[in-house]
Amino acid sequence: MTARILVVDDIPANVKLLEVRLLAEYYEVLTASSGKDALEICESGRVDVVLLDVMMPEMDGFEVCRRLKADQATAHIPVVMVTALDQVQDRVRGLEAGADDFLTKPVNDLQLLTRVKSLVRLKMLTDELRLRASTTRNIGIEELLSRRSAVDEGTPKVLLIDDQESSSSQIARMLREACDLNIAKDPQSGFFEAAEAEHECVLISTRLAEFDPLRLCAQLRTLDRTRFVPIVLLADEGEEDRLLRGLELGINDYVIRPIDRQELLARLRTQIRRKRYNEHLRQSVTQTIEMAVTDGLTGLHNRRYLDSHLKTLFDRAMNRRRPLSLMITDIDRFKGINDTHGHDAGDEILREFAARLRKNVRGIDLACRFGGEEFVVVMPDTDPELANIVAERIRAQIADKPFVVSSLAEPLSVTISIGVSGIKHSGDSVEALMKRADKALYEAKNSGRNRVVADAA
Ligand code: GH3
Ligand code: MG
Ligand code: MG
Repeated sequence: MTARILVVDDIPANVKLLEVRLLAEYYEVLTASSGKDALEICESGRVDVVLLDVMMPEMDGFEVCRRLKADQATAHIPVVMVTALDQVQDRVRGLEAGADDFLTKPVNDLQLLTRVKSLVRLKMLTDELRLRASTTRNIGIEELLSRRSAVDEGTPKVLLIDDQESSSSQIARMLREACDLNIAKDPQSGFFEAAEAEHECVLISTRLAEFDPLRLCAQLRTLDRTRFVPIVLLADEGEEDRLLRGLELGINDYVIRPIDRQELLARLRTQIRRKRYNEHLRQSVTQTIEMAVTDGLTGLHNRRYLDSHLKTLFDRAMNRRRPLSLMITDIDRFKGINDTHGHDAGDEILREFAARLRKNVRGIDLACRFGGEEFVVVMPDTDPELANIVAERIRAQIADKPFVVSSLAEPLSVTISIGVSGIKHSGDSVEALMKRADKALYEAKNSGRNRVVADAA
């Protein structure tokens, strides 16, 4: 997966060094020698990951990072701070500024590439979700981003898997006020805890006595329930190789012992924020997709959904030489109901009609509001004879039980007419199938309404 990496450093030799290594991995590299240039390039919207030097004249890396994270247009771009000083204080400042990760100069090759790779992967996912969310009318990305404060709300539920009493109680003390911590004293129960309850982050000690911590990470990544949960390793100095393999397996971050409370808190916060942000995006995408194919009044699928799904059902029935039937229902004299009792009464009837329709079709049938007071039901694996019986049952369910309308003292009698058609296994098309049902419906109307007519062809 290639991506565009922006390298920011005021010393040309440092820029060159990182550029060469990234180019060798086929990344596209942009460079900037000041914070101001970096901000401009990021605003142009072409950057996937920023490698940002901390010490620069005029505007230092912390300030650049803060500004990037404060701007809605650039807040989602992952920022890696590159610092000469291996000082916890600096890392904490960076994380407070919103940095996503750290590298210490001289930059270790493998570390550079694994971190960039994992951030690029994350960025691609976020981009995809942003794109989908922004193409929808109902919930715009702007609104979503303005709700960004929501990602800081609520105490996060965190799981710690650590079999050493002294270290787990130390961490419990550090996190006491920051999160709702659940401690698993052995890897097996940790794995079950993780699978059982929703956690927003899992901390795993690499000192587990009888279990490979990386195996545990790999197992968590294979479960649906825990696939996206951020994993942070609590590691020891000198465990470089293990951490690199961990990053390849999809762990999200690590903290080196002795653990600094502020650093642990800041890293946790970063992971949880990112998870919540992506969750927000995912939910809004799902929600908008649902809204786009759902009829607001009745909750049934809408015509747009019918148009795409009917084709799929039709092709499948054709290929498997299975029957498929379709009915179009239309409420009789509905205009009169509206005119006499008002539009709101009409809406109530439409809702109740949809509810009765839903109760009378199977789960695999597709019931849609085709428009106005017309509804379509597609019935896979159903021949026209059976479809007729279903249609007749629905007709009776409507006609036999008058509709209660809130503004009217007396329930209202409503009837419907239905046209039914079935698939023909040669020379048929979705349009022809619809047309035959429509024609049958027309006949039902013409021959007196409150009846079912099957396509004779
Ligand atoms: P027919 O028996 O021939 O079907 O007569 P009809 O009056 O039902 O047919 P027509 O197509 O002339 O009228 C349909 C009416 O449905 C007109 C329109 O005002 C009403 N309608 C369409 N959509 C809605 C809606 O969402 N809510 C309400 N209340 N009425 C709707
Ligand atoms: Mg009608
Ligand atoms: Mg009509």
